Amino acid sequence: MGKLAVMGSGYVGLVTGACLADFGLQVICVDNDEKKIKMIREGKIPIFEPGLESLVERNTYYKRLEFTDCIKDAVEQSEVIFIAVGTPPADDGSADLKYVLEVAKNIALYMNGYKIIVDKSTVPVGTGQKVKEVIQNTLNQRGVNHEFDIVSNPEFLREGSALYDFTHPDRVVLGVESERAERIMKEVYRVLYLNETPFVVTNLETAEIIKYASNAYLALKITYINQVANLCERVGADVHHVAKAMGMDGRISPKFLHPGPGYGGSCFPKDTRAFAHLGRKYEVPLTLVECTTEANEKQKNLMVEKIASAIGDLTGKELAILGITFKPRTDDMREAPSLVIINRLVQLGATLRIYDPEGEKEGKWRLSHLGDRITFCQDEYSAVSGAEALIIITEWNQFRNMDLARIYDSMKSKHFFDLRNIYDRQIVEKYGFNYYCVGR
Ligand code: NAD
Repeated sequence: MGKLAVMGSGYVGLVTGACLADFGLQVICVDNDEKKIKMIREGKIPIFEPGLESLVERNTYYKRLEFTDCIKDAVEQSEVIFIAVGTPPADDGSADLKYVLEVAKNIALYMNGYKIIVDKSTVPVGTGQKVKEVIQNTLNQRGVNHEFDIVSNPEFLREGSALYDFTHPDRVVLGVESERAERIMKEVYRVLYLNETPFVVTNLETAEIIKYASNAYLALKITYINQVANLCERVGADVHHVAKAMGMDGRISPKFLHPGPGYGGSCFPKDTRAFAHLGRKYEVPLTLVECTTEANEKQKNLMVEKIASAIGDLTGKELAILGITFKPRTDDMREAPSLVIINRLVQLGATLRIYDPEGEKEGKWRLSHLGDRITFCQDEYSAVSGAEALIIITEWNQFRNMDLARIYDSMKSKHFFDLRNIYDRQIVEKYGFNYYCVGR
């Protein structure tokens, strides 16, 4: 097996590169961000993902993994080239393909023989064909003719458990157009194949749809339980019991039935919008997905209403925010519900004391416009000290067993908002707090 290249060394690219190197393959990770590559070469990982730093270190040490900002070198040396660059939302909700197509063009500029170009970025149906066109056109302009194959290999990893997910996937999806590409891709994933990971081999278009259809379905499931939770709250039902009993039905499954402040992150929000856009483009409206994105926005605002209606006028009130990343075990704040909640609380007059175990760096620049209305604190106890309310937005493990007596004593008023339902109402109320959660 020749060398592999991974274009884009972000959450997906870095994990893909490091894990494939750990399978014993030779991998070159590429990024056009020189600073990022320099940092990684110095042994510093620009993102927080548990286990990633030591995996990169080990595989670099054994010379299976290298990093470069020189696309030419990487393309010339590799047979299989993954595209793992971002596909951020454009203004109309569609996925912006400029990075993917730029990389495709760069690959074609330096192709020197047969290559497999594997799209790992999440992209709308038809992108594989576009990438093919861009590559063929560029080769034509160069006046050279190299064979190549396009593969769609969407990634399903979750930030926070990305290494486990990459090495223990529920399935590997391969959208292919030739037997040669299928054979080589199975060779790339040989370790998983031997471990009997199911492989779904299909055409490009189907593979592209699988990724969006899966993410939109998960977002829809979360949104559904959020709406059921809101109803439970009104009628005196307990959404945890509802979700538990629903989940016992094998047709439903218990996963993704946890109510909260709405989904966020680098995938669900943009992928649902892009999928809905695709439906509109092909005049097959995905109305369930459209409703999901709308209901999710409402859910975040509902959390602010919950807080404001319990506390009353927020002008000049100091509130503690615990957890701002879009979920625990990551530093990623892309489209985190905390961003909507924090901005709105400040608009309503509150000042905020914020603590997140990994989110401070990203939080500081994403919330810099709020100036001295927000303060980042050293830990959860300093954040709640003197506060009128504590608001758990992200369920980091360390927030699950806080010293409630100590917190009670240090707070000014005793409002306890548990937007992830990680506490037992009876226990929290026993300490004297006013407890608010979602759907119970
Ligand atoms: P990211 O923003 O963390 O990383 C993208 C990287 O690509 C950046 O480091 C950027 O500098 C680099 N890049 C951009 N243009 C480049 C170019 N022309 N040449 C070389 N490098 C370039 O993004 P991510 O979270 O890793 O997501 C990548 C793709 O994977 C997206 O399509 C996303 O939807 C998908 N995805 C993400 C996750 C996740 O949990 N983050 C999971 C599954 C799929």
